[in-house]
Parts: sequence; structure tokens; C-alpha cells
Amino acid sequence: MTLAQHLLLVVHSGAETTPHLVEADAGLPQLAVMDVAATRGDGIFETLSVASGHPQALEAHLSRFERSARMLDLPAPDRGVWRDAILAVAERLAEYEESWIKTVLSRGIEGQPLPTGWVYGTVSPDFRRERTEGLGVVLLDRGYRSDVAQSSPWLLAGAKTLSYAVNRAAVREAQRRGADDVIFVSTDGLVLEGPTSTVLAKRGERLSTPPSEFGILPGTTQDDLFHAASDWGLEAIVEPLTPDDLRGADAVWLVSSVRHAAPVRAIDGAAMTVDAALTATMNGFLRSRRS
Ligand code: PLP
Repeated sequence: MTLAQHLLLVVHSGAETTPHLVEADAGLPQLAVMDVAATRGDGIFETLSVASGHPQALEAHLSRFERSARMLDLPAPDRGVWRDAILAVAERLAEYEESWIKTVLSRGIEGQPLPTGWVYGTVSPDFRRERTEGLGVVLLDRGYRSDVAQSSPWLLAGAKTLSYAVNRAAVREAQRRGADDVIFVSTDGLVLEGPTSTVLAKRGERLSTPPSEFGILPGTTQDDLFHAASDWGLEAIVEPLTPDDLRGADAVWLVSSVRHAAPVRAIDGAAMTVDAALTATMNGFLRSRRS
């Protein structure tokens, strides 16, 4: 892997009190063994897509990074420094049509008061199959009610924390069941989100997504698509959805940065219609964003 494909910038390091940028070799060890990013998953991240060197939904990702920091009582990220770090990494990825950047902020080294932060980027995998043939998904019970964010805020539902082991385990469960991905459902029977994506359903001219108040991550991709929806003759609506709403929908997608819009071709083994034309329109729009 070349430096251009995998560039690392350190924004905070344990030794420094103020955030600043240091270019580092992503091929060499950079993280202290006692950093709680590694030992406890105690931190936050963002993943942005980058189109020919342009980070997409940059300000929305920075806002969500700040929101996650507030939820975890982490120091507020210095927006200017993080934006500069993202732009510096993105510039190095300009030769790739599709790449991605990750920002990470951890509480730092165990016992020390300073956070650790870094930004890196690399070229994206080829998602043509997922974007055209679509995904088989299974519905999995997340084990929380839809009011978990209000009843138990310490569970950090809806924060983008580094603790994604559960999300990865859910995808492995989907694979054991012969599917590709997951849609989580609350214990009170409402559709939530995918492990790394937002759920969209089209019913007639309604393009719907569940409310983030249900303890789910507010999606930047969904938000950009909702702003464009009226151009496609669709009414964008945030509303509760049930599994039956999904099964009865004209089409369902899982949308996210990097993979963009992936149509759902089956739910729990039952075939769904893939709206190839609208999917291509969505993905054309998502790929062409320059900010
Ligand atoms: N929900 C979860 C749990 C996610 O991890 C992600 C992205 O990784 C999303 C939704 C989609 O968010 P975005 O469109 O901003 O990538």
C-alpha cells in the first residue's frame, strides 16, 4: 500500500496539549498500546466518502463528529484543525474517483488527560455489485426499545462510537443466514437502521426514513438524498416504519457514505423489487457531490 493510498495525519497526540497536524507513516505503528481506542473502544469516528479528492458532506460529518463527542463527554474537536486534516488527506487521494477518509478521536492513553486523534484515507472497494444487484438483508432484533436514547442515554445509542464489534457481529449473523446485511428492529417492532447504513423506503411518491430519535445515527447520505428527492418527484418524510412497511414498499435501500445507495433485493429471503433506475439516479447524484 502506498503512502498516497493510506495517508495518516495525527491531530492530537498524547504528548501535546493543543491539536495540530503531524504527517505520519500509516505503515508504521502509531498508537500507544494503552490508548483506550484500542483497549476499550472509548472514542468516536466518522467515515467520509471522497470523490476525486473532494470530501463529501464534509460539514455534516464534522457536525456529527462534534455531536458524538458531546454524547461521550469528549473534548470538543477543533473544527478548523480537523477540516484541515481531512482536506490534506483528501488532496492526496485526488487521483482516485472514489476513496474514503476516516477521522478518529479517542479519550487518549489510559490515565492521561489528553485525547488522541488521527485521520487517514484510502481508495474505496468496488461496490458495483452491491449498487446494482443489491443486498439480501435480514431483520435482527437490536434488543433496545425505540425510546432507548431518552430512557438510557448512557448506552450511547445514535453516537458514532468506536465500539462497532456488535455491528460486525450482526453482519456475520446475516452471513450465517445467507444474507449480506442487516436491518435492526427495536423490541417494540420499529425499523431502526443498518449496522453501517440508514434505511430508506419508497412507497408511491413517499421516500421515508425512521427518525433519529429512535437511537439511530442521523445519516449524512440520507440527508443529502432527502434534499434532492423533490427533483425526482419524491416527497421526503421522516416517519416510523414497521417491518411490514418495508415488506410492502415499492423499494428499499441501505444508504451510507462510501457504499452510497445499495438496493435491498430480499428481506429474510423474500424477494423485493430493485428500482434500478432510481438507484442509478441516486448513486449518480451521490457520486457527483463535490462538497
Ligand atoms: N447508521 C450507522 C450505524 C452507521 O454506522 C452509518 C455509517 O457508517 C450510517 C447509519 C450512515 O451514515 P452516513 O450516511 O453518514 O455514512
